Amino acid sequence: VFTGAVVCAGAALLPDADHHNGTIAHSVPVVGRLLTRTIGTAAGGHRRGLHSLLALAGVIALGSVLGLVRFDSGTYGTVPLGAGLATMALVAFATRALGIARKSWAGPWLLGLTVATGIIFLAPTEILWLPLAIGLGFAIHLLGDGLTIGGVPWLWPWKPRPPAWFDDVPLLGDIWQGNGHFALPVLGRAGSAREWLLGCVLTVYLACALVYEACSAVGYDVLALFN
Ligand SMILES: [Zn+2]
Repeated sequence: VFTGAVVCAGAALLPDADHHNGTIAHSVPVVGRLLTRTIGTAAGGHRRGLHSLLALAGVIALGSVLGLVRFDSGTYGTVPLGAGLATMALVAFATRALGIARKSWAGPWLLGLTVATGIIFLAPTEILWLPLAIGLGFAIHLLGDGLTIGGVPWLWPWKPRPPAWFDDVPLLGDIWQGNGHFALPVLGRAGSAREWLLGCVLTVYLACALVYEACSAVGYDVLALFN
């Protein structure tokens, strides 16, 4: 659960690798900006190609391939090298996004290396865990963006246009937009108070789930307290 959650959190930042001033851009000096600028151009700009079902399928495929990169070390058994490298980068991104070690770019990578070393020994043997964790994180980012006004071009590179009368009906024009983006804009603009509130609710839920899982791990059932 822990390894999956860490990889999932890092993967949730990947769609914004199309933004030259985002978390990933600042993860490595010069190279980060260059890489994100290139990705942004290839994807047609921010919230374009990297925010689509096609990109989601692409990262799941990439995760599957990385999950297969493993070698037999003899004494230490099978070493999942691909999962380790993916974990290192994703943990570095997640650490940066959380605002830990903001001053140095090397700090998050060192933490990533530490977690990745652990993963190499603790990684689940199921081959599917890596693409599953990466795909889940990526998909949750797209769903979250889909709840804001800007929406998501799910069908990119196809940008289907809504019928002209869509714009005249309240709400309908926000749900299927003229540029081929789709949204269920219950959160309003990115960075709105509603978005912050949703973040708070999810954080409280996560804290409760962590306490529950930690207690279960040592054989203590917290829910029994409420019965
Ligand atoms: Zn995004």
